[in-house]
Amino acid sequence: GGSLVTEGTVSSGDLVAFVLYELQFSSAVEIFEYVDRQPHVPPEGTLAPQKLEGYVQFKNVIFTYSTREDTPVLKGLSLELRPGQITALVGASGAGKSTCVSLLERFYLPQEGEILLDGQPLNSYKNQYLHDQISVVSQEPVLFARSGKENIKYPAYDATDEEMYQAAELDNAHKFISDLPNGYDTDAGEKGGQVSGGQKQHIAVARAPIRQPRILVLDDVTSNLDTESEHLVHQALLNDSNPCSVLLIAHKLSTVEKANHIVVLEEGKKGGTYADLVNRQNTGFQRKEGEELNN
Ligand code: ATP
Repeated sequence: GGSLVTEGTVSSGDLVAFVLYELQFSSAVEIFEYVDRQPHVPPEGTLAPQKLEGYVQFKNVIFTYSTREDTPVLKGLSLELRPGQITALVGASGAGKSTCVSLLERFYLPQEGEILLDGQPLNSYKNQYLHDQISVVSQEPVLFARSGKENIKYPAYDATDEEMYQAAELDNAHKFISDLPNGYDTDAGEKGGQVSGGQKQHIAVARAPIRQPRILVLDDVTSNLDTESEHLVHQALLNDSNPCSVLLIAHKLSTVEKANHIVVLEEGKKGGTYADLVNRQNTGFQRKEGEELNN
């Protein structure tokens, strides 16, 4: 059952095979204890330092999903996320951008190479600590069937209403939330149905900085938003008052304009094609609004 401990997802087939294997010499109680321990999360470490810079290094990371051993996704990727700087990660669909995020969140372990946080292996930190330090905003945010207020404050319920309003205001979400039938108490979840897709995105954006993460990941957050909304989202998340390390995953050239560094993911490593495209843009190359990088 080694793969159960080191991989992020467990298919029901894996689980059945594992249980059948374990049944040979374990009691049912032991098996359920094992399952209860969430075997899909790699073993955690003990580090939980009071102060974290948020300096991330991927060093020659090689990663293959266990269900697709014939297709390695990352083949020696190196990249850095520096405090106060924005690193854009671009690349064609399926290049492995979201996989990098999963590795950073430690849902999977690389087979080779290492991921360091402030110089220490990611594995040496406590899970809860890591998840408090890393804030990921994805393209399809998960909101709870709770009020906008609870959704923005999650997971920093001790944030004051004032802090919440500030976060919402920055993101320009304050006005539309105030206009909802019950304002901040309106149900923002699926069942509520009173909040549009774009508005959900804004709520998810407003909640990202509220717990002051050291590492902020924007996974294709603005690809479905218009230019004006994208500008607001960037203003809310990429301002100097929150000098964390930012990983910005994007398709559009206009999205990576704010980045300090651009890493192009190609063939599972740092590549060059899109970097050339971006360089051309920086040296006066004229692009059309919303031009896709992976065309
Ligand atoms: P996109 O821009 O379309 O979101 P991406 O660059 O984020 O793509 P990933 O989602 O990281 O790419 O996927 C990289 C490769 O890994 C793809 O071939 C994908 O099919 C595969 N993959 C992603 N998740 C899994 C998984 N859980 N199990 C097996 N293969 C996966």
